[in-house]
Amino acid sequence: MPDYAIGVDLGGTNLKAATVSADGNMLDRLNAQTDITQGPERIINDIVASIEALRDRAGSGQRLTGVGIGVPGFIRLAEGYVVGSHNLPPLNEYPVRDAIEQRLGTPVILENDANAAALGEKWIGAGRDVDDLVLLTLGTGIGGGIISHGRVLHGAVGMAGELGHLTVVPNGNPCGCGNVGCLEKHASATAVESMANLLALGDNLTSKDVYDLAVAGDERARRIFASMGEALGIAIAMLINVFNYPLYLMSGGALAAWEFFYPALEAEVRKRSFTYRNTETRIDKAILGNEAGLFGAAYLPFQAQRSTHE
Ligand SMILES: [Zn+2]
Repeated sequence: MPDYAIGVDLGGTNLKAATVSADGNMLDRLNAQTDITQGPERIINDIVASIEALRDRAGSGQRLTGVGIGVPGFIRLAEGYVVGSHNLPPLNEYPVRDAIEQRLGTPVILENDANAAALGEKWIGAGRDVDDLVLLTLGTGIGGGIISHGRVLHGAVGMAGELGHLTVVPNGNPCGCGNVGCLEKHASATAVESMANLLALGDNLTSKDVYDLAVAGDERARRIFASMGEALGIAIAMLINVFNYPLYLMSGGALAAWEFFYPALEAEVRKRSFTYRNTETRIDKAILGNEAGLFGAAYLPFQAQRSTHE
């Protein structure tokens, strides 16, 4: 009987779920809405309904190994809940894993969404040839995932890899986490838009608008992406100095602006990392796009099963 797992990528307003085989093929998928205005039970219902729909569609000829769920926010692994999620406030400190496990009668593993994306890239994406990598997810915020010896690096309770909150500017912009100068306040899409506002490039420009201006040759727009690249470069240089891993990946819509931010990024890393200058270290684009988190979430139960059999 072939084994499959179900991966779930939980966002603030929508939910993606997929059936994935043990060799990394996506067999089925669905998208659903998540209603976060009606309390935690409603969100749990939405998640369970999606998983049950996929399980029914898979039929009885296959065996469900388990369910992995990528969630935006800090994870407390032992307790199976989320803390400090701005996207899903009703789930804060709610026993998400146990509630879903009880409803499904199947093992459920919770993971931070960026950690899940990093694991997906390691499994079948840009990192499949290495055992150790770091992924930065560049979006409205910046998430991070660290893969060590093929596994997510969790730290003491599951909150390691919060790379968007590395300090890159000592007295920089204030962040919701309580720090100032966090990477995500200087290199996210939101940061790009804030810089465009500060420079009065236009009214309420999106990061895509700023990108279009950069393509058209606007020097200030290009300077914004260079500034973003510097912030990323400072963070990546620190990561290289700490880990000496072979691969540092970035994902997200901002990759479109690679040509505008990467030169500044690379210059900064070169300046700040002896290890980078003296090793074969790759800084590259992730390749699974929005599906990295789904694959990584689905991989979690396979990996857990394998480790119990080792
Ligand atoms: Zn922060």
